[in-house]
Amino acid sequence: MNIVGLDLLPNIKLKKNQVIESDLFIKDIVLQKKKEKTQELQKVLTKSENIISKLRKLKEKAVAANDTISSQDIDWIISKINDQNLYDIDTNDFNTTIRNDNNTSGLAYLMQYSHVENNNIVQKAFQATRKGNAGTVKMTMQRKSTLMAPSSLKVLGKYGMNKKLDAISEFPTLNLSSVPNNLIQNQMALIDSSEFDIFSLNDMEKDKTTFLVANEIISNTDVVKDGIVPNDILEKFIQTVISGYDRVNVLYHNDFHAVDVMQTLFTILTVGRLPEKMKLSPIDVFAMLIGAVCHDLHHTGQNNTYHINARTKYAIRYNDISVLENFHIASSFKILSKDETNILKNFKEEEYKIIRKRIIEGILSTDMANHQKVLANVKAKIGEFQIDKGVNFNKIFKDETKLFDNQQIMLDMFLHCSDISNPAKPQRISTIWTQRVYAEFFKQGDLEKEKGLPVSLLCDRDTTDINKAMIGFINFVTKPSFEILVNIVPECNAYLSNMKQNLIFYENAVNKKEEKNNDDEDDDSSQSSASIESKGENEDDE
Ligand SMILES: [Zn+2]
Repeated sequence: MNIVGLDLLPNIKLKKNQVIESDLFIKDIVLQKKKEKTQELQKVLTKSENIISKLRKLKEKAVAANDTISSQDIDWIISKINDQNLYDIDTNDFNTTIRNDNNTSGLAYLMQYSHVENNNIVQKAFQATRKGNAGTVKMTMQRKSTLMAPSSLKVLGKYGMNKKLDAISEFPTLNLSSVPNNLIQNQMALIDSSEFDIFSLNDMEKDKTTFLVANEIISNTDVVKDGIVPNDILEKFIQTVISGYDRVNVLYHNDFHAVDVMQTLFTILTVGRLPEKMKLSPIDVFAMLIGAVCHDLHHTGQNNTYHINARTKYAIRYNDISVLENFHIASSFKILSKDETNILKNFKEEEYKIIRKRIIEGILSTDMANHQKVLANVKAKIGEFQIDKGVNFNKIFKDETKLFDNQQIMLDMFLHCSDISNPAKPQRISTIWTQRVYAEFFKQGDLEKEKGLPVSLLCDRDTTDINKAMIGFINFVTKPSFEILVNIVPECNAYLSNMKQNLIFYENAVNKKEEKNNDDEDDDSSQSSASIESKGENEDDE
């Protein structure tokens, strides 16, 4: 220790004390300020806190009036808001509805894509772990060889689906040979109609069909007509997107579905004169149509549930959140970032941002897990502006400050409706889509069985009744969606009429099958009791 150091020590001490004192003083002020800030912050409520505080006041009134039912209802509402998952499917309420209707396929269809199934699996696994017997989640492991019925083979082959048929299912309940096949000579004239038949066009144009349809629609947008997008780049872009879909291995989510969704959205926008009513700019329309044709880009042929359960690279990359949808968006912008396919290169920075946001939000809304949320957003606007059969619809778009968001809410709904529009198409077209979608679902189910994964709902070819599943899908998913669509855009009523006819078609098929089964049972009743006993044993095994 040196002398200089000793001499300095008292000084330092003194200075240090001074610092500490002033420090304490500052600390006091800071603490006081913090306290004031916290009190201020406490006054700032989130929307849900605000709603809850209003509900609590209402509850006080209900209690004062001895109205126990209202008081309990308010408690229920508060608990649901506090859960922060208002858009999740309420399986308790839903199960009751379905039990009453004696129809389980509606719930199955919603669960097929939504998080509910996954959450249930996680919950079951969690409960199993708590009980100390993890891994008891039931899995179906058996695998049966699959054979294609000759009639289905012929139909799928006709529409360019004949390359890899080993996993395509047989559809014993749908007899497509009885569906009239009216070749419509000039399909392109119907491009903005609900009667447009991409499969008839495919009979004439073979491999070029999907490119021709996408090109026809995009080329007729104002943005392209104004010359902002160079023709050679546009052509290359459409070709790249179309070939980005795997028609050979992916039996439903391929370029036919992508272009069908694009054509349906185009029809909704056109027949409803929506650019005018919704104050949509040519850029908005262009962005949504590009979003539609790209919305399933590079689809793998399995759904999000599969990717999450199989822990695929896509689920890892996107953290189990809208796995495929995020992948489709990223794939689209990868194409858009390459010079030779960048149709957005002549747009201004702010225009690019609008297009990108429209595409991202639009494609995310096609995740079935967002089905309830997309509908709820639109229903809220219907209530707020008292929309009825198209009346007052344009009022939604009067407030310029909310214009972008309100347009997006509606555009998301139109794209989502287009994505689930198969049962809204004329019967011949609709049944072809049904065949394709179940061919893909069953192929996924086979893969799940092979890998020892839980078989996703509606994906088990041994247990799924397609007709019953379609009745559920229409009643619980597509009909409620299209009823809302027709309420705001009455010009789309043809879709709803088609859907009602298709519903009758599937109901008749179920009734016919049940009648046949009843007849068979009557015939069997004379058989010995031994076979009945063995049947009972099998049921116990399940
Ligand atoms: Zn889709």
